[in-house]
Amino acid sequence: MIIVLKSGVSEREVADVERRITAMGYRPHTIRGELRTVIGAIGDDRGKERLRSLESLETVESVTPILQPFKLASREVRSANSVVQVGNVGIGGRKIVVMAGPCSVESREQVLEVATRVKAAGAAVLRGGAFKPRTSPYAFQGLEEEGLKLLAEARRETGLPIITEVMEPDKVDVVAEHADVLQIGARNVQNFSLLRKVGAVGKPVLLKRGMSTSIQEWLLSAEYVLSGGNPNVILCERGIRTFETSTRFTLDLNAVPVLKKLTHLPVVVDPSHGTGHWEYVESMAMAAVAAGADGLLIEVHPRPEEAMSDGPQSLKPDRFAALMTRVARVARAVDRDA
Ligand code: PEP
Ligand code: MN
Repeated sequence: MIIVLKSGVSEREVADVERRITAMGYRPHTIRGELRTVIGAIGDDRGKERLRSLESLETVESVTPILQPFKLASREVRSANSVVQVGNVGIGGRKIVVMAGPCSVESREQVLEVATRVKAAGAAVLRGGAFKPRTSPYAFQGLEEEGLKLLAEARRETGLPIITEVMEPDKVDVVAEHADVLQIGARNVQNFSLLRKVGAVGKPVLLKRGMSTSIQEWLLSAEYVLSGGNPNVILCERGIRTFETSTRFTLDLNAVPVLKKLTHLPVVVDPSHGTGHWEYVESMAMAAVAAGADGLLIEVHPRPEEAMSDGPQSLKPDRFAALMTRVARVARAVDRDA
């Protein structure tokens, strides 16, 4: 249920309503907007009618059900866009935030070279996989903790915050020690114990869409993180499975306006995994920004032909720089900053 408070209520009155919600067995989630304070009462749907009695309080304007199955992620609870702060960049504001780097961290030289090049081209965040979810157990699995240390070194050298994937609940603490953003991969979007664990840390979480996940299922996964107490969730569309075989996945750009309607969370698009071919990355990056995405996640490698993962979809640094110029033009055309 959403409890909308009357304008001008004091902090003490807010606390009183929160206490009553807690006493009814619900968890109050308070959002202080510019005009009004709204409290989402989160808990078992079955007893929610009891919350209606709060309408008789003088401090309460209305009590209405949240219609969507996801609650904290819904625009019903928060109408303004959420901006997730990563270092000094905000994701979800006017600026299109580009996160770029190699699929996998492979060596010190490789990650430092990519970091310097993507920063020079205007990327705001460095990406790089240290723990890699590979389809085959015989494929390169990542440099693991050594990879995290190399990413941290690249951050020291360039000042770019870093995003990297965490695959298991047991590894969340060590990844969170080094990373600025925790990436949950497509294959783990419904790993509920992992979602609960990242919900309990304060670091921003980038939640990729699963390749066979509906938008509603994906938002319910986001809800696990939000309801665990971590409000800093960024959604990332990265392509879904369809009958089409000429691209690796089908990048579902419909998801961008659909998500913008349903949720206040920032939305970024990954055209590298979404297409699987470097030649299509620039077009789909521009299309994503035109469709309303708040940012992009792009794979860049100095020598894609030697990459240990995802070389065919990785851009060389020069092509990435050219893409950034064109993306900036699209951003301006849709009233965003690049
Ligand atoms: C990645 O970002 O390198 C990755 C493995 O992505 P996804 O989980 O979308 O496949
Ligand atoms: Mn990859």
